[in-house]
Amino acid sequence: MTARYDAIGIGFGPSNLALAIALEERGDTGRMRFFERQECFGWHRDMLLPDATLQVNHLKDLVTLRDPRSSFSFVNYLHEQGRLIDDINLTTSFPTRLEFHDYLQWAAARVAPVCDYGAEVVGVRPVGDGDRVDALAVDIVRGGVRESVETDSIVVENVSRVERVVDATDGVTQTIRDESRGTSRELEVDAVVFATGYEPVSVDDLLPALAGRFARDERGRVIVERDYRLRTDDAFAPAVYLQGGTEHTHGLTSSLLSAVAVRAGEIAESLDARRVRGHRGALAGALVGNGVS
Ligand SMILES: Cc1cc2nc3c(=O)[nH]c(=O)nc-3n(C[C@H](O)[C@H](O)[C@H](O)COP(=O)(O)OP(=O)(O)OC[C@H]3O[C@@H](n4cnc5c(N)ncnc54)[C@H](O)[C@@H]3O)c2cc1C
Repeated sequence: MTARYDAIGIGFGPSNLALAIALEERGDTGRMRFFERQECFGWHRDMLLPDATLQVNHLKDLVTLRDPRSSFSFVNYLHEQGRLIDDINLTTSFPTRLEFHDYLQWAAARVAPVCDYGAEVVGVRPVGDGDRVDALAVDIVRGGVRESVETDSIVVENVSRVERVVDATDGVTQTIRDESRGTSRELEVDAVVFATGYEPVSVDDLLPALAGRFARDERGRVIVERDYRLRTDDAFAPAVYLQGGTEHTHGLTSSLLSAVAVRAGEIAESLDARRVRGHRGALAGALVGNGVS
C-alpha cells in the first residue's frame, strides 16, 4: 500500500531539520515525513575543514530566533555536552563548522523518527483529475547506485589571493599572492574552480512535472507567498513550500542559516492553518510513491 502523509520534506539539511523541530515542538510531526538522500545527517561534510568557522553568530541556530527557550538551542547542546563553560571562555560566538555540525547531528538524532535517510526524491508528480491537482506523488529511490569521483588531498592556501590565471597547454598557471608574507609564487594546476558563490537549485529543475502550475512574475520567476508557499493556479490544491531559492521574494538571507529558525516556525504555522481550513497535501504535501512503505 502506498504510504500517505500530509506533508513531505525533500532533504534534511538545516532548513528542514529546523522545520521538523518546529513541528515537533507544536506536537505535529506525525503528519510529516522527510526524505534525505544521504545515509545519515550531514551538513556539507566535505567542507568541514579544520578551523573553518561558522559565518553567523551561534544564536542563529535552529531555534533561538523563533523560540529562545527551545531545548534544541546551540547553548543547550553545549550544556548537554558539558562544554558550556569552556565555550563561554573561548570568547567567540562563531563556533567551528565541525562543532556546529556536531550540534546539527545532535539535533537531528533527537528528531530521527521523522526522517528516512538513504532515500532520494527523484520525482514529484501531480495526482488528480484532469487539470485539478489534489495531491502529489513523490518518487523515491533507496539503495541506489552512487557515483564517486577522486580528488587529490586538499591544500588550503591561507591569507592568499589569486593574482593571475594563465591558460597553459596542459593546464593552468596561477600566480598566488601570500598576503601575510607579501610574496607571490606560481602554481601549475590541471583546472581552476572559482568557488565564489553558488547557485540555488531551480525549482523548475527540481519539480519539472509541476513547473507549469506555478505563478510567475514578469521575469518568469516563481511567485513565493509570505509563508514561503509557491503561488499556483486555483485547480492546484497541494501546497509547495520553498526553503531556499527565495532571494527574489524574501531577501538575501534565504540561503543562510540566519533564516532557518524563524522560517521553520512560519511554515509550521502555515501548515497548521491549512489543516484547520481542511486543505490536504503539502510538499511538503502529498502521497508518496514508489517503494515507500
Ligand atoms: C561550505 C558551506 C558553508 C556554509 N556556511 C554557512 C554559515 O556559516 N552560515 C550560514 O548562514 N550559511 C552558511 N552556508 C549556507 C548554507 O546554505 C546553509 O548553511 C545551509 O546548508 C542551508 O540549509 P538547507 O537545509 O537549506 O540546505 P542544505 O544544507 O543544502 O541541505 C539540503 C539537503 O537536501 C538533501 N537533498 C537534496 N536533494 C535531495 C533529493 N532529491 N532527495 C533527498 N534529499 C535531497 C541534501 O542531501 C541535503 O542534505 C554554507 C554553505 C556551504 C556550502
